[in-house]
Amino acid sequence: MQMKHSEGTWKIRKDENQTFVSVDFMQAAPLWSGDGPSATCTSTKDVAIVAKFRMQPEEREANARLIAAAPQMLEAGKEFVEAIAELLMSVQTHIEDSDCECRICVADRSYEKFRAAIKAAEGGE
Ligand SMILES: [Zn+2]
Repeated sequence: MQMKHSEGTWKIRKDENQTFVSVDFMQAAPLWSGDGPSATCTSTKDVAIVAKFRMQPEEREANARLIAAAPQMLEAGKEFVEAIAELLMSVQTHIEDSDCECRICVADRSYEKFRAAIKAAEGGE
């Protein structure tokens, strides 16, 4: 699936009033820079502004870290789900017992939860 979220490393940025999750991106340099039409420069855009209202600084920081780590978790999660799917295909799960606590069945349920989370993050199909 084509990535739709902002490319690049999401990082936390703060000013005196706000906490942001931001990403650097390359953009065409303004014409007045005199570098010509092919010139690019790095710019920053905000992916999220983490709410300050009714939130302690530690909670705000933790929320910002979680948001900033999302692309990395999504990428790692997709790789992991693919790898575990192959492993699970080579073994027998105990479908008749939905409460089975063997490692295979626990991994199978975890795989399904992970797949659902990835689907939610990517917006469906
Ligand atoms: Zn089992």
